[in-house]
Amino acid sequence: MNCPHCHSSSTTERQGRTVHGFRRFRCRECGRRFNERTGTALNRVQVPTDIVFLVVFWRLRYKLSLRDLAEMFLIVKGG
Ligand SMILES: [Zn+2]
Repeated sequence: MNCPHCHSSSTTERQGRTVHGFRRFRCRECGRRFNERTGTALNRVQVPTDIVFLVVFWRLRYKLSLRDLAEMFLIVKGG
């Protein structure tokens, strides 16, 4: 996986996972640490993956509209 900061491909995977279960990496070029979600759209909105999966599940299971999902999403996030 390439470094999201300097885009180097010389990265090493680190032991253990983040609290959300993502694989962790360290860049040998710039020395920065990141995980497989760093720099992605999902990471930017700061939503745990399990909530995203839950929302997708609701959409498929109950055929909710995106408007319904947005509302439920806010409830789950607590605000
Ligand atoms: Zn880097």
